[in-house]
Amino acid sequence: MNNVNIIGLEVTPLGGVGGDILLESQTNLTGSCFLLTFKYSKGYDKHVIIDFGLHQGLDYSAEFNDDLPFDVHTLTAAIVTHAHVDHCGRIPLLYNSGFEKSTYFSSQESMELSFVQLEDCAKLMLNEYEAKLHTFQKYRRICAEAGKIKKQRENAKSPRNGNRFSKPSVEELKKAEEKKESILSMLDVDNIDAAAPIPPIYRQEDVEKAQNYSYILPKTIKDLPGVSFEVYSSGHILGAKSIMVSIKLENGQTKRVVFSADLGNYGRDFSPHGDPVTNPKMLINAMFCETTYGGTLRDENYYIDGIATFKKELEQEIAKGKTIIIPSFAMDRSQEILYHLKDIKGAAIYYDTKSGNLILPIYQKYNTTYKNAKLNFTPINCENRTEVYTHTGAKIIVVSSGMCNGGPVNDYLDHYLEDDEAVFMLTGYMSPNTIGGKLYNGSKIIYIKGKAKTVKSKIMPYGCFSSHGDEKSLIEWMSGWKTNSRTQIVLNHGDIEGSTLALKNTIERKQKKGETTIQGTPVLAMLNRTIKI
Ligand SMILES: [Zn+2]
Repeated sequence: MNNVNIIGLEVTPLGGVGGDILLESQTNLTGSCFLLTFKYSKGYDKHVIIDFGLHQGLDYSAEFNDDLPFDVHTLTAAIVTHAHVDHCGRIPLLYNSGFEKSTYFSSQESMELSFVQLEDCAKLMLNEYEAKLHTFQKYRRICAEAGKIKKQRENAKSPRNGNRFSKPSVEELKKAEEKKESILSMLDVDNIDAAAPIPPIYRQEDVEKAQNYSYILPKTIKDLPGVSFEVYSSGHILGAKSIMVSIKLENGQTKRVVFSADLGNYGRDFSPHGDPVTNPKMLINAMFCETTYGGTLRDENYYIDGIATFKKELEQEIAKGKTIIIPSFAMDRSQEILYHLKDIKGAAIYYDTKSGNLILPIYQKYNTTYKNAKLNFTPINCENRTEVYTHTGAKIIVVSSGMCNGGPVNDYLDHYLEDDEAVFMLTGYMSPNTIGGKLYNGSKIIYIKGKAKTVKSKIMPYGCFSSHGDEKSLIEWMSGWKTNSRTQIVLNHGDIEGSTLALKNTIERKQKKGETTIQGTPVLAMLNRTIKI
């Protein structure tokens, strides 16, 4: 690349945006990925991705997650904004597919947290695959058995065979057919081929390989002359950063594009991550801003009031001697809950999340709020869970997963859902088709481990916990950058018909009324639609 100069930059959204027909029923939030093409003179283009997340709400190994929307051999590097799996969850797939270059994490915290998550993903994928394979093979065995019974009945009927074969009864055949049907209905498919197990998209060894190629994002990368990177706290979870990419053209002009990543809230009284950076005041040519809560405006005190209510109601249930189960996302939410429980008295506090127990020391290492807080809990895993069940008196169990769709919370649902002395406090976003979503929406019958359970426990939802900023926070972040009429304001990572469009309309309305410093026309990011910077 001697005597070659950078002449431009193009950005193509490959996930986490609208226009994704395959995921139209989803909210286009997950599977975040941007492909950056650095244009050099003489046609020497270089490619970098920012984030490569899992499409969630689908099986891990399903075809959407398996799909590589680029040739890994053409990539110069991968960059990760933060440790949520919808942003980092497919990084090991790169290494499984022959990638042998570096992955740069936005911070040391993001790198450490990501690998706890990725190891967990690899295990979950393998477990999911083995469970499906087991069921699939069982179905095949039952089919073979039913076929054999059918044949024996036909052969026994044949006059040529006389009575040489004993004839299996109609009931035996019926039983085998019923077994087949029950497996299909358990898998919720008409045809077993629709539930054929797909091998994990990566395994533990790919996570380890990714680890060997991992670094903190530097200001410049040797293989990308003329390009520089800056990171800014996005206030979302520990270590999460917005990333600004600058290119210096031959004529001395600098072009800048900023990727918000996921943005947190401004002005919460408690935030382990601080506010998003408010005022970089850099003139940018393009910004890619997330819109998860575009169109949502929260009260000024929603968090303070919400936490006060949460604590008050928690204390009331403790006074009644209840068993209180708090399903939480293992990363960030469960640490936040533990922080709020530090002064709670009169109840034993158990923390049952394997990855949460690995993540908490990372929070304690890097965050002064946690370093200085005296947290009060007993770590629990499946080996010592009996201790929790047999404890008499009030107890609080903080447990993963957040949406109640797997993990240790399944055991507690099994144990306590039909217990009117138990309380489930829901503290996170619940996708409607998850168990948590069904509880949130008041379903009275819930299937746990294949058994129907009648919900007799008390279900108490709390909307105050959110690591995403509302519309006001998003606009505040955008206003912190210097824009002009040519700045491209690209909105992504939201429900395109809902939150993304709502934010676009708000910006346009404010621009018309002169109520915002944001200049440039907001547009919706679309899958595979390239934006030239
Ligand atoms: Zn996130």
